[in-house]
Amino acid sequence: MQPIDHFCCQNPDCPDRGSRGQGNLFFRGWSGKGKRIRMIFCRSCKAHFSERKGTVLEQSRLPDRKVLDVLNHIREGCGTRGTSRMVGVDKNTVTRYVLMAGTHAKSLHPELVAFSPSDPRSPGR
Ligand SMILES: [Zn+2]
Repeated sequence: MQPIDHFCCQNPDCPDRGSRGQGNLFFRGWSGKGKRIRMIFCRSCKAHFSERKGTVLEQSRLPDRKVLDVLNHIREGCGTRGTSRMVGVDKNTVTRYVLMAGTHAKSLHPELVAFSPSDPRSPGR
């Protein structure tokens, strides 16, 4: 489990949105099947949100460990079917998580990577 300092407020109207370690966030309550997902409260804007909000785990029905297993297998170069067999989830589930992780990573890419070679498959970029 991640400590509270790893999170930031997800409310777009919050003055502390995106800031970590400001002391505005607290774990308060649980959510999900078996109450395994922590809820976070922001003292600055009074919003509650899931610890998964804004992550690739948002809307996920699989346990965190299983999602990370799927993505770690893909990261190491395993194919969709191989990952499906090794982790024990349907191949369509693997594909869905790969798409979610890709979409999530794409939004971070322009902020974190100084230069990307042009991609001939996407003209105009
Ligand atoms: Zn907030």
